[in-house]
Order: sequence, then C-alpha cells, then structure tokens
Amino acid sequence: MTTNEATSKDGIHKETMGFQTEVKQLLHLMIHSLYSHPEIFLRELVSNASDASDKLRYAALSDSALLGTDPHLEIRISFDEKNRTITIVDNGIGMNRDDVIANLGTIAKSGTAEFVKHMTGDEKKDSQLIGKFGVGFYSAFIVADKVRVETLKAGETEAVAWESDGSGEFTIGAAEKTGRGTCITLFLKDEHTKFASDWELRSIIRKYSDHISIPILMLKPEMPAREEEEQQEEKAPEWETVNTAKAMWTRSRSDISDDEYKEFYHHIGHDYADPLKWSHNAVEGKLEYTSLLYIPAKAPLDLYNREMDRGLKLFVQRVFIMDKAEEFLPLYLRFIKGVLDTNDLSLNVSREILQKDPQVDSMRTALTKRVLDMLAKLAKNEPEAYQSFWKEFGQVLKEGPGEDFVNREKVAKLLRFSSTEEAKEEQTVALEGYISRMKEGQDKIYYITAESFNAAKSSPHLEVFRKKGIEVLLMCDRIDEWLMAHLNAFDGKSFEDIGRGDLDLGKLDSEEDKKALEEVEKKSEDLVKRIQDVLAEQVESVRVTHRLTDSPACLVVGANDMGAQMRRIMEAAGQAVPESKPIFEINPEHPLIGRLDSETDEDRFAELSKVLLDQAHLAEGGQLTDPGAYVQRLNKLLLELSGH
Ligand code: ADP
Repeated sequence: MTTNEATSKDGIHKETMGFQTEVKQLLHLMIHSLYSHPEIFLRELVSNASDASDKLRYAALSDSALLGTDPHLEIRISFDEKNRTITIVDNGIGMNRDDVIANLGTIAKSGTAEFVKHMTGDEKKDSQLIGKFGVGFYSAFIVADKVRVETLKAGETEAVAWESDGSGEFTIGAAEKTGRGTCITLFLKDEHTKFASDWELRSIIRKYSDHISIPILMLKPEMPAREEEEQQEEKAPEWETVNTAKAMWTRSRSDISDDEYKEFYHHIGHDYADPLKWSHNAVEGKLEYTSLLYIPAKAPLDLYNREMDRGLKLFVQRVFIMDKAEEFLPLYLRFIKGVLDTNDLSLNVSREILQKDPQVDSMRTALTKRVLDMLAKLAKNEPEAYQSFWKEFGQVLKEGPGEDFVNREKVAKLLRFSSTEEAKEEQTVALEGYISRMKEGQDKIYYITAESFNAAKSSPHLEVFRKKGIEVLLMCDRIDEWLMAHLNAFDGKSFEDIGRGDLDLGKLDSEEDKKALEEVEKKSEDLVKRIQDVLAEQVESVRVTHRLTDSPACLVVGANDMGAQMRRIMEAAGQAVPESKPIFEINPEHPLIGRLDSETDEDRFAELSKVLLDQAHLAEGGQLTDPGAYVQRLNKLLLELSGH
C-alpha cells in the first residue's frame, strides 16, 4: 500500500489506498496481454463466487447459523444494457474490511507472486508467461474501467464497499448491503459494451462455467407480451439456471466432454493453459471416493518453492472441505492438481486428523498408483506428450525413488536420461530401452555423473565404453547423484557409476584384455610408485587404468566417497562434508605417460605429474584449487619444448 489519505464524499467515509506495486504491474500487463480473450473475466469472477460459496458451506459445518435464512447458495448475473454494467452477485462467505484490503489490494497467492517476480518488463515475453496463471479478480479490469465491490462477511454486520479504476488506487468505505455475500459491478469500457447482453453472457457461462456446482442464475429474457397479458399487472422478474449446476466429478465420464474437463481444470487449477492429461475415477468398495486428477501442461514457476500451492481440493460428501490437501499424494507428485471427494472421512476433518488417518494413507497409496499408471500410459501411448511432460516435471519425478520406496521400480520405468546412444541433451532414453540394447554378457547399467552435459559427454571415463560399444547414461542434473543413491537396480540389473571405484566390466572384458592389463600393471609398478610419492598429498592412490584409451590419466571417486554433485548439495545445505581424495588412474599406453616414465630429472617428473593431475581435474569439468600454478607449470613446459 503506498498512500493512505482519508476523504469524505457523499456523507460516506471513504479511504483511498494504493495498490501494492506488484498489483499495478500485474494489472498493466493483464490489460495489455489478455485483450484477445476479454471474456475470461466472467469465468474468473464466477470461479471466485463459487469458491466463496464453498467456503461458506464449510464454515457452516461448525456454525450453521451462518447460513441463516438464506441457505441456498447461488450466483446471480445480470446486466444493464443502457448503463453498460454487468453485476455478479453471490451469497457466499463475503469479506470484511481487512479481507478486502488483503485480497483486493495485494497479491497473496504464491504462484502469482512468483510470476510477478519473474516478469521481465518485456511485454511480449511476459504476456506469454501470464497465460500460465489464473489471473483472478483483477481480470475484471480487462473489460471494465471501473469496478465496484460490495460485500458483507457471513456472521458480521458491517458491509464494505471497494471501488477502483484499476490505475493505481482503490477506495474503501462502508456499504449499505444487508445480505451476506459479494456483489461485483463492472462498468464496461466502450470497446467491451457487447458483454452487456443476454446472449453473450449465457454463452460465456455455458462455455467456461458450466461445471460450477451451484446454480448460476440469469433473468429469463422477456417474451414479447401477448395482448391479453398486457392488461395484467407487471410480473416479478423470473430467474433461471443457466449452467448444469452439478459437481462435475459426480457425473459419469461418458457425459463429460473434453472441453468441460478442461474448463474445470482452469477453475480448480488456477491455470489458464489446458491440462496435458487427466484421470477421472469413482471407486467403491472398502474405500469410497471419486478422484479427478490432472497433469498440467506447464510447470509453475514455484515448483521448487517449499511454499508452493500443492495438493488436492478435498470434498467430503460433496461438501468442500479444504484446498491444498497435501496428504493424498507424495511430494514428488506435487505438480498434480485435482479434486478428491470421499465418503470415508468425517465432515469435520482437520489437517491434523488427515495426517494420522489410516484411510488417508490408503487413499494416498491408491492415488499415487493412479498417477503413476496415468504417466505410464501416457509414455506408452503418446510418447511425444510424455516427452513434453518430462521436460516440465522430470526433475521432480527424479525425487521419487528416494521418497517412495514401494513404487521405486514404477517410477524408474518413467525416468528418462541422456545417453551415449544419441548423446543429445534432451533426456529421451528409458531404462527399458537401455536394457534392450545391452551387449551380450553385460549385466550392469552404466552411468556417469558430471557437472554439465558436455562434461559428461566428453568425459575420458567413457573411452573404454566407446571402444567396446557399450551404452552409458549421461547424468548432469543436480539431483542425479541423489537419485542414483536410491536406485540400486532396475529389472534385476544393478547400476554402476563408471567414474567411481574399481571398474569391473565382468564378462565384457575378454581373457586377453585381462591378461594385457595385468602385464601393463606389472610393468608400471615403479612408475606408479614414483607418481604416488609426488602426489601423495593430493590423491588417495595411483593405479593403472582400465578405462582410458585416448587420454593419459583420469580421476576416480572412491567406491564409498561422496560424488561432486552430492558434495555441492550438502555444502549448499550447510552440512559438513568429509574430505575425500580421488584416485589417480594412469594410462601407460599413452605417449605422455611413456614420456613421464622416461624422465630422469625428479623435479621435472614432479612438475609433469602435477600437470597431468590438474588436466584430469579439468577434463571432468572440475575446478583447480590453484589455477595460477597450473598455468605457470604448463607455460614452463611449453617454453622448454620450444627450446628456451
Ligand atoms: P484467487 O481466487 O486465485 O485466490 P483472486 O485475485 O481472484 O485470486 O481473488 C483474491 C481473493 O479475494 C480470493 O482468494 C478470495 O479470498 C477473495 N475473493 C475474491 N472474490 C471473492 C468473492 N466473490 N467472495 C469472497 N471472497 C472473494
């Protein structure tokens, strides 16, 4: 809020306040970017009115007096063609003064707040972004140059009036309204007067709001009066219901069109974009519930924000209980949106009860399975759509094996990776595909983790695999090491990090390979010892490699040591990470190692060894502890080469 000056006009005390800066930005952007779909304002306001009715019904569970003499919840929409206004009235929970200031003056929802944070100022880019959000109440200003809200909170007596032209300020004061609920009047802009029409409003309601579970009423259009009626007294206006007015999820699947499913998603998901997929099921038996679960097409910006809105909208016996019921799905499926309606919980269930209720556990198990099955089906039948899902949510799904022991194998099937098979950054390789391409005698799934895709792709560790034509999964996402710490095996095949411990290629190595290696090892014993003496401080040990064909040396993480990614995650989380030194592996077949072996000057030998060690660090995409010393050493060697 920026200003706060009191004015007094028309005998009613009014105060003028400024919108939060972010609201101003949002309003500006919205008006400029959503002009091609101005009609969505009605969907947003009806959606709010319906939410307000849900909230009242819930509050009335513990205080039935709130419903008073007006127990039928409904939304009435009317218009005045002459004065160019539209009015949307609900008898829901209503708002008091504090509610109005908080809800209609600031941005409270984390998703929208996050969006505003991400706004670039580039109108074109931002307007693409805004498509991802439920734009809410402020969308009224797309069509109106003035909006007036009168509202009375259920159980209270002082009604509030709010008014704004959407440019930067709003006024707030007392209102005369006596009945509970909210009345919103839109004063239409010149270019949007067409919305003040019976036909327009009805068709928008049917298109966008048919699924709303309470009646949306409009006045019956006046029929041309017949002569004998003309003499009679004027009839009271008659209202009629325009929508289906039945909770959509209670209807049978075959009666619901795709468009209805999509519209319902916009309503509950506060997401303007269409969902990627949904699954609607009624379950009877030991548990009784109906679920309607959606996979969004795009990830919200706050997917990694701990406070992101997640969870399902919970209904008990069709009564709305709460938004964001988080207990029904694991964290790694936090992107799922939807509704759960059950007869198995009591109407006065609280969040605390949800956390302990064994029925909730059973439903969570069933719903988790439902989502994983929906994803498996998508992967199988619509690989392209699955790929777009993976791009948006793959990173989150990778949290699955660590969080959900029971479904580890199921989640593993859904994972996608980069691999040496195609060596492209897009993650398209499934474990099943990898297994189908395994070489004869191969009993492990090989992978490498690195700091970046390029570092993984050109890691020296891949050399022997390339030579033998064995596929390796390339992992460079922050979460990959953590994921692999929880994935021990898939389809009976264990995973092996090729940059860690002793590389055992098992049957993939021929007897000759093994013999040759033993011979080289024997021949290199002295050299290994010499290098070890020089690098004792920096490395755990030195040994002859099995992995390299083209590079002189590489670094290997000890079998039980922490990898670089994991180390960084732990350090970022402020945890002490035990020091560990790498193992230095040399390739005696390489001319540089041969050159090193023949070096008789001990100082030069030491310098060369250190350069090789630093290069091995660099080849991994790692950072040198003393880059300056490396450069000096290398330059000295270069000068010697050129005879200086
Ligand atoms: P959202 O509905 O996505 O939370 P909005 O900007 O549409 O965001 O609305 C902000 C808030 O204003 C709502 O969360 C609700 O608390 C309140 N509100 C809006 N319209 C109504 C209404 N008709 N009755 C009661 N409260 C409302």
